[in-house]
Amino acid sequence: MISKDDYTCSICLGVFVDPCKLKCNHAFCNACLLDLIDFNNIKYKCPMCRLEFVNKDNPLSIDEDLQNIVKENFPNQYQQRLEEIKNIQSLLPNELKIEVNYGNYFKSEDDNDDGLQYQWTTHVSLDYTRKSDKIALKDLDLNSLIKNVTFQLDETFFPDVITVRQPPYLLTRWGYDVFTIPIKIKFKKEHKIQPIEFEHHLVFEGDGIEKRQIVKIDISNLTQFQELKQYSQQQQIQQQQ
Ligand SMILES: [Zn+2]
Ligand SMILES: [Zn+2]
Repeated sequence: MISKDDYTCSICLGVFVDPCKLKCNHAFCNACLLDLIDFNNIKYKCPMCRLEFVNKDNPLSIDEDLQNIVKENFPNQYQQRLEEIKNIQSLLPNELKIEVNYGNYFKSEDDNDDGLQYQWTTHVSLDYTRKSDKIALKDLDLNSLIKNVTFQLDETFFPDVITVRQPPYLLTRWGYDVFTIPIKIKFKKEHKIQPIEFEHHLVFEGDGIEKRQIVKIDISNLTQFQELKQYSQQQQIQQQQ
């Protein structure tokens, strides 16, 4: 027997919509987690068991299998909950939570005199945390808002400050050792979005590393956002009449 309790989000008490399973196996709707947890912090806790996680450990992968079970067994409740979430999100706030995806891959080569040498590539890109935000902003590519990305290398590199002005925002170099790269994403002036600064520590093991951090950006100066606000204001006026 499938019990609805097993498919109920303990934050909104509705059936799961876009469920994300944390590593403790507790699942919550994507939208509920985003509202409850401040992902700007380095660590966050599971709202149920208080187990602590590191923000960089990809908290928001949607569990499609779990979602399909909900859709098949509780179609009406699912639709109802989906409508509720959509209604709340049509009032998109000025601050948008987005994902900064970054990491590095590498290959190594034996350099007879000095041991192993690594050719590494570090990369940065932005994405939405919620599908509904992407739809609301008419599929706007968040990377198109970027003016440039600056990578601050170890001082043994020359030049040691590299600014990439066009996508894809990545950088490839040769080196002998790992180090930490401060990275700064600057946005085009007209968007008036504060730069995003973070660090990536190179990894020369396995396939390299992929990380994801969630940050807030102020989108109140984006044309797409202003159009959306105008539209929802018109809707409100029509409803009042
Ligand atoms: Zn929920
Ligand atoms: Zn938990």
